[in-house]
Amino acid sequence: MHNSQKTIKKEKILTGDRATGQLHLGHFVGSLQQRVELQHDYEQTVLVADLQGLTDNGHNPHKVSSNILNVVADYLAVGIEPEKTTICLQSAIPALSELTMYYSNLVSVARLQRNPTVKSEVSAKSFGRSIPTGFLTYPISQAADITAFRATLIPVGEDQLPMIEQTNEIVRKLNHIAQDDILVECRPLLSKVSRLPSADGKSKMSKSLGNCIFLSSSEKEISKAVKSMYTDPNHLNIEDPGQINGNVVFTYLDAFHSDSVYVDELKGRYQTGGLGDGATKKILEECLQSILKPIRERREMFMSDKAQLIDILRAGSQKAEEESNQVLNRVKCAFGLNLFN
Ligand code: ATP
Ligand code: MG
Repeated sequence: MHNSQKTIKKEKILTGDRATGQLHLGHFVGSLQQRVELQHDYEQTVLVADLQGLTDNGHNPHKVSSNILNVVADYLAVGIEPEKTTICLQSAIPALSELTMYYSNLVSVARLQRNPTVKSEVSAKSFGRSIPTGFLTYPISQAADITAFRATLIPVGEDQLPMIEQTNEIVRKLNHIAQDDILVECRPLLSKVSRLPSADGKSKMSKSLGNCIFLSSSEKEISKAVKSMYTDPNHLNIEDPGQINGNVVFTYLDAFHSDSVYVDELKGRYQTGGLGDGATKKILEECLQSILKPIRERREMFMSDKAQLIDILRAGSQKAEEESNQVLNRVKCAFGLNLFN
């Protein structure tokens, strides 16, 4: 290797998923596929966000603890390689919680309440006036996660854009206090499909909304979900012209089918009339079955060796702990709380 190449540092990526359930097709197209590709050229850390999962499950912690290994198995099943990507567990990295504590002094309650994703999730979860403090402040904990690994690129779905904006505000405030660029700003990386809808088309596919096609879904479950998909309610006869916009089957064909020319041809036939919903659903079902079958099988294999999953997570968390402690020390210095250093 040429000398100058040796010194080039790879850009850092941080992404993660709440341990609130198994991963689904929204994760797959929204972020997982990108992670699998990016792990070769970037220094990538993927965080199983169990603490963040607790922010709306404090009274039901089993939901989180029972899903940690599920998420790790999902990562491995889609092709995230622990040799290339650091897979770590949020609650095993104390620096993340400490950073959250420091940053929380730089963010007002009003700013958190204005965060559009927090706002819509608060209303969807019907918290009323009883929003858990941890939930309201989870954007701060996400800022801690991102900055702790000096990540500059964040592959996320659309719902996470306000978190990135809020992270960068914290970075600028902290750097101003430190009078030094101790933290780095980050930018989002949106995939082609940054918000996969649920089968009924009404909302984002989300673990907590119970509307998912999971990476582990069985052949039958996939078939049932595709058959129930929202299409064009006015497309009553095969020969009638049909609408593409808002037609979930076509949204999914765009997201998952490998042959976009063929999908465009189908769209043309559907819009002119002569192509039925049964036929488009059949094409989509075949496509999803062929993508999910190998993933489901690999997933089952990984889930059959839980000790291996724990080892992977432990090793990744130890590496992540070392890295994040360095950033924590610099942040403590910025606040002048480094008496013992
Ligand atoms: P929960 O309902 O518990 O919040 P979730 O299904 O929204 O779970 P998260 O763990 O919150 O999943 O999200 C992890 C990552 O996956 C984020 O980057 C998010 O933007 C992305 N993501 C989640 N759902 C979708 C979706 N339907 N389409 C595209 N990206 C998604
Ligand atoms: Mg979410």
